Amino acid sequence: MASITIDDVTKEFGEGSESVVAVDDVSLDIKDGEFVVFVGPSGSGKSTLMRIVAGLETQTEGDIEIGDAIVNQLGPRARDIAMVFQNYALYPNMTVEENMSFGLKMSTDMSDDAIEESVTSTAQMMDIGELLDNKPGELSGGQQQRVALGRAIVRDPNVFLMDEPLSNLDAKLRAEMRTEINRLQNDLGVTTLYVTHDQTEAMT
Ligand code: ADP
Ligand code: MG
Repeated sequence: MASITIDDVTKEFGEGSESVVAVDDVSLDIKDGEFVVFVGPSGSGKSTLMRIVAGLETQTEGDIEIGDAIVNQLGPRARDIAMVFQNYALYPNMTVEENMSFGLKMSTDMSDDAIEESVTSTAQMMDIGELLDNKPGELSGGQQQRVALGRAIVRDPNVFLMDEPLSNLDAKLRAEMRTEINRLQNDLGVTTLYVTHDQTEAMT
């Protein structure tokens, strides 16, 4: 687990008269284990800031610290972050189990047995234990979203980044998943940045 410091971060896309300042001199200290929500209208720079923290985008100015280290030069994998996006980004040709174990197989030296145990217990916690052999296309939106969350959780990262993760769900499911994400974050205690344009969701 880790604290996150965003220090005078600016991101400008393009140059000269065509340029867009997507993030304008943002500074924020996020404590280890804290759950922080960014709320703002479309185009206000939420996703850009998340992508900078993740290492998917490079800031024009400023520093990102995770733990006590400046990570400006580190790529996404070295930052030990798990992201959940609006569109889940599950692999359609892989089963739920393969989707959840893929990241561990690629980026850790865990044994196959240890990976299987970790995926199985996380799937049970997320109430998708019965779906491990199914493909994403056979699941409801809510189930797919649980798989995406489970895939992030199983990696046991320092930080969760969630960018409008519930936007594709209907209102009832969205309300359920909000409560669930809150509970999960409480249980796991992983530092979490959560982005939404929805004020009610941010307050919940
Ligand atoms: P939000 O997630 O709050 O909707 P974004 O971070 O996606 O906002 O976008 C912030 C601003 O940066 C917008 O004006 C958007 O058009 C611009 N922007 C985002 N990504 C790029 C990019 N890769 N190239 C140019 N402009 C971008
Ligand atoms: Mg966005």
